[in-house]
Amino acid sequence: MDTSATPTHCPYCALQCGMNLTPAADGGVEVTERADFPVNRGALCGKGRTAPALLSSRVRLTSPLIRNGGVLEPAGWDEALDRITEGLSRTRTEHGPDACGVFGGGGLTNEKAYALGKFARVVLGTSQIDYNGRFCMSSAAAAGIKAFGLDRGLPFPLEDIPRTGCVILVGSNLAETMPPALRYLTELKENGGTLIVIDPRRTRTAEQADLHLAPRPGTDLALALGLLHLIVSEGRTDEEYIQSRTSGWEEARAAAMAHWPEYVERITGVSVPQLREAVRLFCEPEAAMVLTARGPEQQSKGTDTVGAWINLCLATGRSGRPLSGYGCLTGQGNGQGGREHGQKADQLPGYRKLTDPAARRHVAEVWGVDPDSLPGPGRSAYELLDAMGTDIHSLLLMGSNPVVSAPHAAHIEERLKSLDFLAVADVVLSETAALADVVLPVTQWAEETGTTTNLEGRVLLRRRAITPPEGVRSDLDVLHELAARLGVEKGFPTDPEEVFDELRRASAGGAADYSGITYRRLAEENGVFWPCPAPDDTGSADSTDSTAGTDSTVGFGDCEDASLDVLPDDPAEDGTPADFPGDTLDGGVHPGTPRLFLDRFATEDGLARFVPVSHRAAAEEPDDEYPVLLTTGRVVAQYQSGAQTRRVDELNAAAPGPFVEMHPRLAERLGAADGDAVTVVSRRGRAVAPARITTSIRPDTVFMPFHWPGEGRANTLTNPALDPTSRMPEFKTCAVRVEVAK
Ligand code: SF4
Repeated sequence: MDTSATPTHCPYCALQCGMNLTPAADGGVEVTERADFPVNRGALCGKGRTAPALLSSRVRLTSPLIRNGGVLEPAGWDEALDRITEGLSRTRTEHGPDACGVFGGGGLTNEKAYALGKFARVVLGTSQIDYNGRFCMSSAAAAGIKAFGLDRGLPFPLEDIPRTGCVILVGSNLAETMPPALRYLTELKENGGTLIVIDPRRTRTAEQADLHLAPRPGTDLALALGLLHLIVSEGRTDEEYIQSRTSGWEEARAAAMAHWPEYVERITGVSVPQLREAVRLFCEPEAAMVLTARGPEQQSKGTDTVGAWINLCLATGRSGRPLSGYGCLTGQGNGQGGREHGQKADQLPGYRKLTDPAARRHVAEVWGVDPDSLPGPGRSAYELLDAMGTDIHSLLLMGSNPVVSAPHAAHIEERLKSLDFLAVADVVLSETAALADVVLPVTQWAEETGTTTNLEGRVLLRRRAITPPEGVRSDLDVLHELAARLGVEKGFPTDPEEVFDELRRASAGGAADYSGITYRRLAEENGVFWPCPAPDDTGSADSTDSTAGTDSTVGFGDCEDASLDVLPDDPAEDGTPADFPGDTLDGGVHPGTPRLFLDRFATEDGLARFVPVSHRAAAEEPDDEYPVLLTTGRVVAQYQSGAQTRRVDELNAAAPGPFVEMHPRLAERLGAADGDAVTVVSRRGRAVAPARITTSIRPDTVFMPFHWPGEGRANTLTNPALDPTSRMPEFKTCAVRVEVAK
């Protein structure tokens, strides 16, 4: 093995592919293969392969910037930090602590997410903190908590996927969003399993499917209900499982039976024979899975939609069985860990509810503060951004670019401009940073050590491989310095391992228990799955009733009990692999929990809950003025708001700008030819981009990727209507009209 190589992980998506960073001739680092990491086994997509380009990019920030006379100018660190201290202090004095907002990101490491949440609540004393992960998987999290008492993206490792009998993939184009993961589906098919893809577009992923269903955007809930109706009427439910492992079936069953297949066909556009075929493929094998992503989740009924898919898994006895069940494919690099450690508006570290007195006591003790001093829940991401300039006067933002990624983005851009004070920490001058009063240049992934948690709940160590350029500091340094200037001298260490050790104590006994995970173990074991209690962590008596979610009314139960559920009695009999990371460790060390719920769910009674749900229309349906549906998504060469990937030449060349994908029938009606500039207009604004004409999309729908700012910004158009439970905006569907641009 090359001893000069540093094993680490990609900075981008939730797969968190393993890679080695090796010294390059130019003094930087280059990516080399790391075949020992089981998730990607050496494979990388173009984003991961080219990630080092941004480390030495001429466009990265290496000096703080301060706005003087309307212009951002280079400044020293002390001056910049003093200016932020002044801005936040003035707001607190004039308007109270809740007028200070904090906005984080799902790309921040666990340590940064933890420190940011603590900074908001302990230093600023504000309740107004949330993060861009609210825009990502919050509906799946809320639905998972309702049904299972716990949300972890995948409750089983990716390696289970090829060994199941059927996968229904709902609203995920993983061939483009996380290409190395496609091999799990390829291997599934090679093993004789079947793949059903549900997507309004015939994506690269859908092309792999045995059955592709293309519902109208915003109707996935009705589709799931129609499938459940057929499952019941064809006698394919698992009655023994329903009786022994679930509650609430009768109400959910009654709701589903009101959704006749013919009715569902009219709503979704998916024919009854296709529905029947999907039911057959899903129900015939002994094991099967449903995996959702942003398609069903980014809707104003996202929680109910995911709940309907979970009901399908429960009615057929899938969840909590080997090689089976429901899972969510989280999107952002640390989308999973980023939501566990306290940067969510309603949660404390360890996935604890902020309103739970026992949780507040536990975390306050770790933080050395009075529990009564901790603020309560704040606004969700969109609501927080929408309150800027009215209730929120100053904002500290780390690791996010809402000018491009928020729904109704032109409105959010105006709200950002109306702030009294905006400070942004980023690696480049993103579109949001360009509006700031102070911009802080911070270190990148390869320049700092930290942990992330991938979509499987596998906690990973990203290692520092290169010295950061002069002039940049880590986000942990920034929080340390600001805390000290604001009067809190202790409690914000700059050493990531020290922060992680405190995070472990704060999470002990909570749903996402990291107390048994150490940097040493992460280095030795290629990651550890949570929950992983420390040997002496009995789940402190006053904190085991902490619940994770926004709406759960029950406790998670005892983490030690959950740990006992890891292995089935006889792995050889049911095919469950026995080679879990760490399962051979001795000395009472907890091995981590790759598979959840095998004996009981994380609810008080151990039963999974059916949630009765019914179809309802999208917040905005087509009409005479806006007759077409818009759906948005990603392309393979860009990542999220594009702040990083648009600045990598190779990626930019591969995907230089937005486009409007439309069916030839719609193009003909409009008189548009391939490549013509078209204007897409919604009730919130307009975006211009070239037409891309393809039969792979429904004739009633257009698609735009959302990675770009400016006149082609897709999120100018999207609808901020919120899911009542998760507060997820409706990115995935709104009504538009399309015009050939003059
Ligand atoms: Fe892997 Fe995702 Fe990075 Fe691509 S972007 S290399 S799929 S972690």
